[in-house]
Amino acid sequence: MFKISTEDGNARLGTLKTRHGEVKTPFFMPVATKATAKTLTPEDLQICKVEALISNSLHLFLRPGVDVLELHGGLHKFMKFDGVIFTDSGGFQMIRKGFFIDANEKGITFRSPYNGKKYLFTPEFSKEIQQRIGSDVAMMLDYCAEYPTSYEEAKRSVELTTIWAARFPKNTSKQLNFGIVQGSVYEDLRRKSAKDLASMDFDGYGIGGLSIGEPKNVMYRMVEIVNSILPEKNPRYLMGVGSPLEIVESVMRGVDIFDSVFPTRNGRHGTAITWQGMLNIRKSDYRTDTRPLDEECSCPTCQNFTRAYLHHLLREKEILGMHLLSLHNVCFMTHFMKRLREEIHQNSLQNFKKDLEKVF
Ligand SMILES: [Zn+2]
Repeated sequence: MFKISTEDGNARLGTLKTRHGEVKTPFFMPVATKATAKTLTPEDLQICKVEALISNSLHLFLRPGVDVLELHGGLHKFMKFDGVIFTDSGGFQMIRKGFFIDANEKGITFRSPYNGKKYLFTPEFSKEIQQRIGSDVAMMLDYCAEYPTSYEEAKRSVELTTIWAARFPKNTSKQLNFGIVQGSVYEDLRRKSAKDLASMDFDGYGIGGLSIGEPKNVMYRMVEIVNSILPEKNPRYLMGVGSPLEIVESVMRGVDIFDSVFPTRNGRHGTAITWQGMLNIRKSDYRTDTRPLDEECSCPTCQNFTRAYLHHLLREKEILGMHLLSLHNVCFMTHFMKRLREEIHQNSLQNFKKDLEKVF
């Protein structure tokens, strides 16, 4: 299921095997919460060589409904994506306005923001939905505390997450199951959560409840603590991270998998990720700039259009501008991860990080 081939310090190169193929780690997943990586077609994802995505089972359950996905034969066919799909459980929606009502030993009660209906998400029900959706990796139902949060609240989040982890059905041959470590920014709670989950039979481990407003050095410290406890043989997934520099820092601390809205959200807001750093293409500097976004990039946006054209589209709020920037950014992240894997292979991560620090 997961094989490690090379290590550079704590950084690892590996392969994650799923029923929709193998992906080399470390890898980055664009976010397709509602069964779409915003503004990108399946062909775009193919051009960018995107091998894995993460969607959200709570969102899909509420709309369009699991029955609609089943009519198509599952999420892969519904959205015409042949690669690996992870689904999040909905635990993260606890800290999003309009969803969360209550959590106790049974599970989480959510309210649909569409029709006000209440639903109890137990660990078993969350797994059932993710199985019916047909994702390749199911994330356990977890209790995500917001940041900042009190020690008491964080402790409760760890206790409930452990109870739900034990109940989350794991004996499924086709779908992989990932636990999620919680504990906010409290070292002893992160340790407890990692220990509790490490003793259970999960295929991999998510590190949740980070990158939600805490300082970066605190996030890295929590990742170090958790990864010193999680079994080395399982993949580790830092949820909701991140930017190129955050990814390198986390890979150096033993993380294998990432997801973030970073490339698509920045794309829609007019910011391009390049080897020269982040470019806000809406700035007037680019009005007459006839270079591509990134000289080194082979994506369709960089092969066909100038910064001046993209500047014009974004200033006019044209949908094509948002699309072309998202396309470049997602392609960039694939290239970036490939380069990162090469740097691990050559034992040169430290130098790679130093170069990135100059521009990011
Ligand atoms: Zn490009």
